[in-house]
Amino acid sequence: MFVRNIVDTKTIRNVITIKPTDSITAAAELLAKHRIGAVVVSRDGSTVDGILSERDIVRSLGLTGIECMNKQVQDLMTATVVGCKLDETADSILERMTEGRFRHMPVIDDNRMVGVISIGDVVKARISEIQQENSALTGMIANTW
Ligand code: AMP
Repeated sequence: MFVRNIVDTKTIRNVITIKPTDSITAAAELLAKHRIGAVVVSRDGSTVDGILSERDIVRSLGLTGIECMNKQVQDLMTATVVGCKLDETADSILERMTEGRFRHMPVIDDNRMVGVISIGDVVKARISEIQQENSALTGMIANTW
């Protein structure tokens, strides 16, 4: 199972981005509207300038209160983003997400962002792969015995 296979099964195919100078309120509205947990920050819609997750917003709300909603996305985003490539395996992505303690990764192909995958997408894809292997093995056993 490769990142390419996971990107192909996603229902939201276009990458949702927000500008660094947009407000945290606008980011929260975007997360709610698209029912996503993180948004890639990009000035031009294809280059990754950062990532802003619901956790960044909640952490800031807890530390500084509601005023953080008027801050800019670039004030709360993570600027050093870990991305992945289409030919990486699902297992290696799960390992990197677990080690880095994040749940989202932009997918980069030819210096262009072609998708975003979440830990939920990867786990779902792995479960479906395991189920297919399981039924193939069950079929083999049933035909052999
Ligand atoms: P998440 O678990 O993805 O909601 O995010 C947890 C923290 O990691 C937040 O501070 C995010 O800004 C940051 N983060 C999320 N995805 C990435 C990524 N691919 N690379 C680096 N940091 C990330």
